[in-house]
Amino acid sequence: MATLEIHDLHVSVDGEGGSKEILRGVDLTVKQGETHAIMGPNGSGKSTLAYSLAGHPKYTVTGGTVTLDGEDVLEMSVDERARAGVFLAMQYPVEIPGVSVSNFLRTSATAVRGEAPRLRTWVKEVKETMERLEMDPAFAERNVNEGFSGGEKKRHEILQLELLKPRIAVLDETDSGLDIDALRIVSEGVNRVRSTGEVGTLLITHYTRILRYITPDHVHVFAGGRIVESGGAELADKLEAEGYEQYTKGGGS
Ligand code: ADP
Ligand code: MG
Ligand code: MG
Repeated sequence: MATLEIHDLHVSVDGEGGSKEILRGVDLTVKQGETHAIMGPNGSGKSTLAYSLAGHPKYTVTGGTVTLDGEDVLEMSVDERARAGVFLAMQYPVEIPGVSVSNFLRTSATAVRGEAPRLRTWVKEVKETMERLEMDPAFAERNVNEGFSGGEKKRHEILQLELLKPRIAVLDETDSGLDIDALRIVSEGVNRVRSTGEVGTLLITHYTRILRYITPDHVHVFAGGRIVESGGAELADKLEAEGYEQYTKGGGS
């Protein structure tokens, strides 16, 4: 079972007024088969955690470690992270001119699997997965992220997740900008991947609403650049009722 281990992670971001420490000692262990929700107020550093795991050049790790089965993830290139089985939804948020969704998916699958998937089974797999996500087949011929709506971006994200079958998946704000039907479809995709028992998921969100569809095994409250409380699914209900104020009062971030 693959284990992603984040230990005392400190990350700074380069901004206008120089470098600023955003992550201030994050500790988290995600094992294959587990679903963790990270919840917290805006600006608490949740996306910074996701970008840091993705190896985004703007985010500088100033301390701590991230390992996958003991291997240093921070030393890996973006491609190596993908091949090691770490899926980071925000890895390709940009438009890729001239590259269709269909070609992009096949190239990604080839990179992750180390060999090109057999064409006939692959085409079938893509078609069936798109059907389950209630995506128009024509979507496969569009250029990656070009003019995608919020909902299309998220469906594309889950399509990649289902096809690439990572060991660890980091999903940042997968629920943002989704209407209720899209939220259900996207959540069902996450639950299908989860039901294989072979993916450890880190679901980062500001809202509790996605957690009505996906019941996490663990919930972590993120505030001021670190995890300040951890619990089971019931912690999300408490947050829904009480909000984040109790975590941000006084301390600040
Ligand atoms: P969250 O996802 O929890 O809303 P973020 O990680 O996006 O929080 O942001 C945390 C803090 O880091 C904020 O104060 C934000 O302004 C700052 N920050 C994040 N990314 C950058 C960046 N690329 N440049 C400058 N500041 C950033
Ligand atoms: Mg934010
Ligand atoms: Mg964010």
